[in-house]
Amino acid sequence: MRADSSANHFVARQGRLRSLMEARDVPLLLVTSPVNVFYLTGFRGSAGVAAFDWEGASLWVDPRYTLQAQEQACGARVLEERKGLLKAVGGWLRSKGTTRVGYEDTHLSCAQFQELKKGAPSRVRFLPAGGMVEELRLVKDPAEIALIREAGQITARVFQEVLPEVRPGTRESDLGAEIEYRMRRQGAEGAAFDPIVTSGRRSALPHGRASRKQLGKCELVILDLGAILDGYAADMTRTVYLGVPSARLRRLYGSVLAAQREACEAIHDGCRAHAVEAAARRVLASKGLEQYFTHSTGHGVGLEVHEKPRLGRGEKTVLRTGCVVTVEPGIYLEGFGGIRIEDTVVVGAQAAEILTPAPKDSWFTG
Ligand code: ZN
Ligand code: ZN
Repeated sequence: MRADSSANHFVARQGRLRSLMEARDVPLLLVTSPVNVFYLTGFRGSAGVAAFDWEGASLWVDPRYTLQAQEQACGARVLEERKGLLKAVGGWLRSKGTTRVGYEDTHLSCAQFQELKKGAPSRVRFLPAGGMVEELRLVKDPAEIALIREAGQITARVFQEVLPEVRPGTRESDLGAEIEYRMRRQGAEGAAFDPIVTSGRRSALPHGRASRKQLGKCELVILDLGAILDGYAADMTRTVYLGVPSARLRRLYGSVLAAQREACEAIHDGCRAHAVEAAARRVLASKGLEQYFTHSTGHGVGLEVHEKPRLGRGEKTVLRTGCVVTVEPGIYLEGFGGIRIEDTVVVGAQAAEILTPAPKDSWFTG
């Protein structure tokens, strides 16, 4: 078990989990999602089952991970299991008096659930409790925000560094590779996702991958990138133009930028997710461009690049101080190209703070 100060964060998160379990009447919770196990204990292996109840926390791992778990896990006793983690946990439930056991139904396959049930006593009622840990993860603590802020700064710096190479003749895939390499050189673990680099007509694909295509003169180029640091991701998009933009293009870019700024300004503690989406749509609708905005305005970012909440139509989640979300309106015109501007922001009491500080008003490289 590690003794550094970061141990406190994990113990505090376990405390928040227990309060939520009490409120939901779940006296014992089994956590099987690796991301959630990491969030609650600090153990970063790809497999492990954690159990939380009033008496404490236990973490079952296979022999590949015993040493790592002993080193990383905070506030949990580590148990090595050689013959199936879930069966072992089921067996352990026999020693417990509880009849109500929550499990992450959103992460466990049917086969895994059967395995768990096989070992467990028949008196146990399994309660679907998927989403509980994700609910806690919605509001980030200061340690998490610090990591996302650093990941955001690396992302912005790397964008600035590769900008001189965003020019006619460079391949999209070479830019993608350059972005990943520079993120590592800057101290990130790497890229949180394969960087999206799309140019010309391909930029009209909101989630196109970087291809072997070379950038051409007078083309729009979308770069969507994010570094990952100690498990925490940032997510940022900038659009550049390789040439002298026409009046029409300036108007289109200005409209997306205005939509992005309005949406950022709509964010404060207590606002609802759909209100941020509505702010972006209002601007694009007033310019006759709403039909080209084909995805939602943003999503949560943290241990996963896409997590709750979604900033979309009808999304009632209330954003609280410490929520980290993206704001990324875009327009996509088939046969012409796309424009998207995205920042990762943290919600504050009065306003949002941008965590991906790369310029977005110098968008063409003439
Ligand atoms: Zn993105
Ligand atoms: Zn995004």
